[in-house]
Amino acid sequence: MNNVLINSFGYYLKQRFPQKVHKVTVDAGFTCPNRDGSKGRGGCSYCNNKSFSPNKRREVPAIEQQIEAGKAVVKRRTGATHVLAYFQAYSNTYAPLSELTDRYAQALACPDVVGLSISTRPDCINAEVVDLLSSYRDQGYEIWLEIGLQSAHDVTLKRIRRGHDFTTYAQAVRLIRARGLPVCTHLILGLPGENRDMMMQTLEQMMDTGTDGIKFHPLHIVRHTLLAHEWKREPFPLLSQHEYVSLVCDMLERIPPRYVVHRLTGTASQDMLLAPAWCTKKWAVINAIHAEMQCRGSYQGCAFDTERTAQPWQSPDMDPTSYGIGESILVP
Ligand code: SF4
Repeated sequence: MNNVLINSFGYYLKQRFPQKVHKVTVDAGFTCPNRDGSKGRGGCSYCNNKSFSPNKRREVPAIEQQIEAGKAVVKRRTGATHVLAYFQAYSNTYAPLSELTDRYAQALACPDVVGLSISTRPDCINAEVVDLLSSYRDQGYEIWLEIGLQSAHDVTLKRIRRGHDFTTYAQAVRLIRARGLPVCTHLILGLPGENRDMMMQTLEQMMDTGTDGIKFHPLHIVRHTLLAHEWKREPFPLLSQHEYVSLVCDMLERIPPRYVVHRLTGTASQDMLLAPAWCTKKWAVINAIHAEMQCRGSYQGCAFDTERTAQPWQSPDMDPTSYGIGESILVP
């Protein structure tokens, strides 16, 4: 099998579709159980609560309107003619099934939409919603479920007020993958109280559970969050760019080549970010990761231990052995 430097989501989409496909963000107006009181109030400690009102339904533009506007932007910027509707804001499986069906169907009915990427919490997954999403996959749509894990350590999950534990994540992922849908797991590196060993343990537990994609984020402190108060009161160390880049490269080397890397870093705007300052510069970080992998002479999966991974989900018509040698892939 040939090796690809980083099996990015952009690269994956290129193999999967004849047309150029890009994600378009959709806000379906859903809320989050960790903020509306059913799991917790105030949300995860790093989550910006500013715009959240637990007693009011959020007003959002029509999904079709959002997709049309997003399509125009991605077409201008990237030339993409087709899109994946990315339900990103809050918890996008947290609503009655009829409401979810209505929102997803609205997106899929838009011209040039090839599928959905649904971002949610592990405690908002149940058999009904997974069956609904599987039915779209059976109709030929590209469907991903993006599940926030952040850390496999319950002590950390408690500290950052996630409102769920690792077991809940593992059960959700098994349920989703058992129905043939791919999972993208979100991790945060540099969480308070965590050292490198703990972060590597998270990666290993995620691999042992089984996933199909991964999103890396550095912990960054944004205004109007509980974490900002905590950090101002009692500052804890944050990763330097160098430490983050090095950690992500270590992880890329250890994950299987087939994992789709949906994101290499996360950023915040200058007016919202308190620290670390490097988290405003997405491309500097992405390019540094790329350069570090090349400098090491490594590639995604070069240190992958084949003994330890759970069964892969396999996209029905994709040959994972078809990747080109050393192709340099930057994740958008
Ligand atoms: S699950 Fe997501 S939306 Fe809900 S509080 Fe946490 S970060 Fe915010």
